Amino acid sequence: MSRLDFERRGREADWDCAHSACDARDKRSGYSGVAIYWRSRETCPVAIEEGVCGTRTKAESAIWPNERPPLVDEDYARAKALDDEGRAIWADFGEFVLCNLYAPTTYGAVDEKVAERIDFKRDFLRALEERLTSLRSRGRRVIMCGDWNIAPNWKLDRAHDDPRAVEPKNESREWLTRVLGQDGMCDVFREVHPNVKAFTCWNVASGAQINDYGSRIDYFLCDRDTLGHVQGVGVAQNSKGQPPPLAMSVLYPGRQTTVIDHFAPSKVSGTTGISTLDAEDISKSRALKRAPEPPKRKVAETTLKDFFTVKSSKKKMNEPVTPGESKSVDAEVNDPDVETTVKKVNDYDAQAALWSNTLAKMAPPKCAGHGETCKVRVVKKRESPHFARVFFCCPRPAGPRTNPACDCGFFAWRDDRRSK
Ligand SMILES: [Zn+2]
Repeated sequence: MSRLDFERRGREADWDCAHSACDARDKRSGYSGVAIYWRSRETCPVAIEEGVCGTRTKAESAIWPNERPPLVDEDYARAKALDDEGRAIWADFGEFVLCNLYAPTTYGAVDEKVAERIDFKRDFLRALEERLTSLRSRGRRVIMCGDWNIAPNWKLDRAHDDPRAVEPKNESREWLTRVLGQDGMCDVFREVHPNVKAFTCWNVASGAQINDYGSRIDYFLCDRDTLGHVQGVGVAQNSKGQPPPLAMSVLYPGRQTTVIDHFAPSKVSGTTGISTLDAEDISKSRALKRAPEPPKRKVAETTLKDFFTVKSSKKKMNEPVTPGESKSVDAEVNDPDVETTVKKVNDYDAQAALWSNTLAKMAPPKCAGHGETCKVRVVKKRESPHFARVFFCCPRPAGPRTNPACDCGFFAWRDDRRSK
């Protein structure tokens, strides 16, 4: 569905929306973005603006009239960079101003790039605070929500390995504490539930949500006046606390359910270490399906060698050939080209053997803590010096290291193994 179709359907369904999307040159499209939706028959904003520094606002600002936006005079390039990542959108509904934001994240060990992002986040929050303070000084009610990438309370809003651990210094949290104190804003969830642990973010790839090993970094802030209008805030629960049996989290507990997972190492595949679904998983998922099974294909017979099998030279070029049905080498003996064919096949056999040997070395090892076959993952972060490197890690879902049922922390690079 195109963006225009999406917006048209939204209007038909009574919804309208405004969004801000990443347009930064050094980021891929879809890197970040935020949106606000409203019921168009019930309300309509009087003004909408993007970003925190106003560099995307062509005309005079309607939300901050007669005001120089943050940072623009001091460092215009920085101001533009902050806005270009599409991290904030503001809608003025008259009674209140709503901001939906996506604060920058600063994940990982501090190297040059992470340090740059720490500065970037600091500037984003500083500009955001200026915008907020200005609105409050004009007597405006403000609601701010989104992904803050800050756990407000280190003890309560984060999972911990060691309950005696000391809180590390965190500039962003200090910023938030100040905003919640001096500027009279409040964390809506925490006001209503002072002691409840309720996480909103988990490392999905490591299955951490199974052990509820996460953090609370998505929430609403509002001023005290607006708090009185809040009708309810709570923790969403599935009715029985357990997803239905066809949910991927039940079919493949503890694993991220992406297409890649379907090519995870199999218990039955032996040497290659690469197969489609486990036999057990296939029968389980088939038993659960009510629809009639599709016609069976001979995929089970497909081996690496099949890809190197020489087809009959008499076969027409456009005749379809499925890998499992390709003629075996023996069937070619009466062919006039027999000598060349067999010679080629020997070369191919050698190559196939080489490949299967290589693939065997790439098969995942057992983790040290549990002796279970590791899961195979790949570094997806483009900024990482290890981008696209494959690694093995404990198959258990992440959780506190003190819990032996959780991820034991085993880790190995695949190419380190291959070079042995
Ligand atoms: Zn383990």
